[in-house]
Amino acid sequence: MGIGNQPKERFYTMLTDYHLHTCYSGDSQAPIKAQLDAAVAAGLTHICFTDHVDYDGVDLIPADLAARNEELLAIASRYPTLDISLGMELGMSTPESNRLSHQHAENVHLDFIIGSVHMVENTNVFYPEYYNGRSKEQACIAYLEKLSRAIRISQFNVMGHYDFCTKYSPYPSRAMEYEMFPELFDDIFHYIIETGRGIEINTSAWRDDPAWGLSIIFRYRELGGEYVTIGSDAHQPQRVGGRVKEATDLAKAAGIRYIATFKNLKPIMHKI
Ligand SMILES: [Zn+2]
Ligand SMILES: [Zn+2]
Repeated sequence: MGIGNQPKERFYTMLTDYHLHTCYSGDSQAPIKAQLDAAVAAGLTHICFTDHVDYDGVDLIPADLAARNEELLAIASRYPTLDISLGMELGMSTPESNRLSHQHAENVHLDFIIGSVHMVENTNVFYPEYYNGRSKEQACIAYLEKLSRAIRISQFNVMGHYDFCTKYSPYPSRAMEYEMFPELFDDIFHYIIETGRGIEINTSAWRDDPAWGLSIIFRYRELGGEYVTIGSDAHQPQRVGGRVKEATDLAKAAGIRYIATFKNLKPIMHKI
């Protein structure tokens, strides 16, 4: 291909990463300062820290959000180019796990809640055991069915990583597309859209594979989905902002009109 045929790189005045962890998450060692420095280095403009609060059987101590907020707010003014929001990643499962998570976050300022499923039938989808005896199709169907139930009994702003069921999977092709599970995606998206919520494009599931999910995001848009958030799910500084520009391109290609950021649990729409 001649140089004149190279696709033009799109330029965005904003670049968001709305799924970041710090050492306040039970599965991250990353100091807040290191995450902030990495966000600046990655050219991000809007970020949100979404430390884990899990009462769903995941074996992690829920984040001390008040202490996280205090440490963060003490140094936030040193990062004038970053719009920083305070969030949590709620491990969605049962009405009781939802209640305990919100009770844990009571009296803590939060701008954003991303609701995620990590546990299916008492097994953490992170572990190889989840995939034992399951085909890729079975692993994804069980996950999406759980997601469909969990979103209806949990309080959150945006549904996290719909493709977590493939992130750590052992199958030769990990990609997910709409045509694989049309009824399940439609069911989930109808509910998300009707209730004014949004979905996340999470770049971590792609790992080093080509980006996937265009057909999924396209269908979400077709059913009336207006906005997405974009997240790297970085637990380490070197992952902060990973492939978020590519995810923004994917949202744009699917016809999504807005990338959302959040303050006080309310979305702010940014046209793309
Ligand atoms: Zn997660
Ligand atoms: Zn996460």
